[in-house]
Amino acid sequence: MNAEIVSVGTELLLGTSVNTDASDVSLALSELGINVFWHTVVGDNPARLTECLYRARTRADLIVTTGGLGPTCDDLTKQTLARAFGRELYFDEEAADTIRGWFAAQGRAFTENNLRQAWLPEGCTILPNDCGTAPGCLFESGGVTVAMLPGPPRECRAMLRNHLMPLLAELSGETIRSHMVRMFGIGESAMEEQLRDLMDGANPTVAPYAKTGECLVRVTAKAADADECEAMMAPVVEEVCRRMGDTVYGIDSNSLEDRVLELLVGRNMTIAAAESCTGGMVAQRLTAIPGASAVFRGGVTVYTEDAKCRLLGMEQKFIDRHGVVSAAVARRMAKRVRKILGSDLGVGITGWAGPDGDDVGLVYVALAAKGECFVRRLQLGKNSDRERIRTVAAHNAFDMARRYLTGLDI
Ligand code: ATP
Repeated sequence: MNAEIVSVGTELLLGTSVNTDASDVSLALSELGINVFWHTVVGDNPARLTECLYRARTRADLIVTTGGLGPTCDDLTKQTLARAFGRELYFDEEAADTIRGWFAAQGRAFTENNLRQAWLPEGCTILPNDCGTAPGCLFESGGVTVAMLPGPPRECRAMLRNHLMPLLAELSGETIRSHMVRMFGIGESAMEEQLRDLMDGANPTVAPYAKTGECLVRVTAKAADADECEAMMAPVVEEVCRRMGDTVYGIDSNSLEDRVLELLVGRNMTIAAAESCTGGMVAQRLTAIPGASAVFRGGVTVYTEDAKCRLLGMEQKFIDRHGVVSAAVARRMAKRVRKILGSDLGVGITGWAGPDGDDVGLVYVALAAKGECFVRRLQLGKNSDRERIRTVAAHNAFDMARRYLTGLDI
């Protein structure tokens, strides 16, 4: 199957929204083994959208559109697609009830224009919207499969993963499964070098991805059923883990912080954080996970020297002696927050996030536990941007915690 993604939205052309939906859809389709050969972006203009669709159907057998399914008058994707593919729209009573129910459940005032979203192309399969009101849909016309997804990224992603991907996998007559091996503490090129020969395989495929400071490898197999896929993937996943050793922090787990939370829950332990340059990122990332209250005692953002003294009881003389960005200060932050909040583990982070200063990118991350305290000195590069420095510093705090909790060297 060859696919074209058509993203509809004037805001994408103006540059005020980034086309993350196209990236999400591309990643999902490649997981299914579907080739994505074109990305097209078009404004909320029926004539130009029609032109795009006419071109797309000459060169793709799957067209996935994003955006323009909402209730306002510039949301014209469904009407335009129906017309371009010779379909009438019909009013779907069940979809209308779902929309009314959604408003009632949210306690929000319902307005009649929302029912525009219940008009759908005849003969389509409805794709439920788990995070909003506009349903998506899928139909086939002259050998081309057409799928419509909503624009808001959260809605688009949920519909794609929960409803469209299973249907596309079924259509292709094959089952596709994948596992994501997640690593921290190794660079992308070093990882690639160690996995090079595995990446040449056609089924299962082994594909590397790099995120800020992290490396991911997706292993994907195509077979007649899920069991066969799993059997094909198992030795490859095992080999990836064997080669990458303890840089692997999880398979299919969501993030480093998810892994840390899981480990803390499993050991009935708690954590607290005192953060300077990360400004609460560790706390934010932990509290974004449901169930964090069982393990996260709390955190303080002690940005200035004065805040470090007032909130953590540090002495100005101590800071002056070691420098505010130093191993000693990071250690003391970790120990103090652990003690003050009565947690099993304490994190302390202090560093220069830049962009100004001589030591931009220098960060100390400390992890205090009962009777011991570890510290990492990170040099994240003078040219790194502020966000990257902060993100990687927080990653390191989680990595230290997961290594401590699994008995690895820190
Ligand atoms: P709504 O019900 O919100 O109107 P919709 O399906 O009609 O949903 P749009 O109106 O096209 O979607 O877009 C809604 C918002 O979703 C846009 O303002 C934009 O912020 C975001 N959005 C739309 N398309 C994309 C895209 N391709 N990538 C990322 N964000 C997008």
